[in-house]
Amino acid sequence: MIFLERIGPALRGLTRLLGLDERRCLRCGAAFAPSDDDGTVDGFLCASCLAALPPMRGPRCRRCAHPFPGAAPGAPALCGDCLRTPPPWRGMACYGRYEVALRDFLLDFKFHGRFVLADAAAPLLLDSLLCLPLPDAIVPMPLPLSRLRARGYNQVQELALALGRLLDLPVRPDLLLRPSCDAPQSRLHAKERRRNLHGSFIAPAHAGGLRLWLLDDIFTTGSTARAATQALLSAGAGRVDLVTLARTPLEPAARPDRKPALSLPPAATAGNAAPEKRPECAGNPD
Ligand SMILES: [Zn+2]
Ligand SMILES: [Zn+2]
Repeated sequence: MIFLERIGPALRGLTRLLGLDERRCLRCGAAFAPSDDDGTVDGFLCASCLAALPPMRGPRCRRCAHPFPGAAPGAPALCGDCLRTPPPWRGMACYGRYEVALRDFLLDFKFHGRFVLADAAAPLLLDSLLCLPLPDAIVPMPLPLSRLRARGYNQVQELALALGRLLDLPVRPDLLLRPSCDAPQSRLHAKERRRNLHGSFIAPAHAGGLRLWLLDDIFTTGSTARAATQALLSAGAGRVDLVTLARTPLEPAARPDRKPALSLPPAATAGNAAPEKRPECAGNPD
C-alpha cells in the first residue's frame, strides 16, 4: 500500500512527461493534459475554454436564478415573479449566464449536432447540483415532435445521458412527452409562450411518486419549464427540481415581462462581500 502511494505520483508524472495523458479539447480541438493544477479537471475542455465558460456567481433567486446584483452572498431570497407566482418546481440549479462563450457553446451543441459537447457540458453542472437532493431519474426536456423530426435529435437528451453517466442516474425521456406541433418558443413573447404551451406536455402515470430532475439547456422566461413541471406533478411525481446549463440575462429594462424583484436580500456593505470560490446554489431544498 505504501509502495503504491509512493509510486502513484511518479507514474502520473512519467505519463504526463511522455504525453500519454494528452487529450483534445472538445470545444476548440487544442491538445491539453488534464491537470488539477491548471483547472482542467473537467477532462474534456482545455484551461482556456473552461476559463471562457465561467459559472454564474453571486446571490440570485433560489427558484429561478434571477441575479441580485449587490446583495449579500448566500442571502436566501425570491425574486418578485417567484413571490407572486411561485414556480411549480422545488429547487433550481443553473450553471451560467446565456451570453458570450456559453451562448456560442450551446448554439454549437444545439444546432450543429456536436453531441460530443454533452460530455464537456455535463461536468460543468456538478457544482451547481450540490444544492439539490439526488433524484430517482433525470427527465430531459422534450422537443415538440415536429421539431424532433426536423432536427433529428434532442440535444437536451444527449446532455441528460452524459449527466446520467457521470452521476450513475437513470435517464427517463419516457416520463415526459410533447406531441403537439407548437411554434418555436424563442419567437414568442411571455404571454404567448404560456398560451402556446398550455397542455402541450403529457406525462404518463408511471412518473408517480418519483423525485425528478427536469433538465433543459436554456432557461428564458420559464414558461416551458412551468408547463413541463406541471405535467409531471399532475402525473403524480413526488418532487421536481429544475436543472439548466444557462439562463438568459434578466436586466428589467431588457425584459418587459419581468418586474423588478420585490424581495431583495440585504445589500452587502462596501468591501464586505467576499468573492465566491464556487457557484452558489440557486435552489436549496425546501
Ligand atoms: Zn479548448
Ligand atoms: Zn425567481
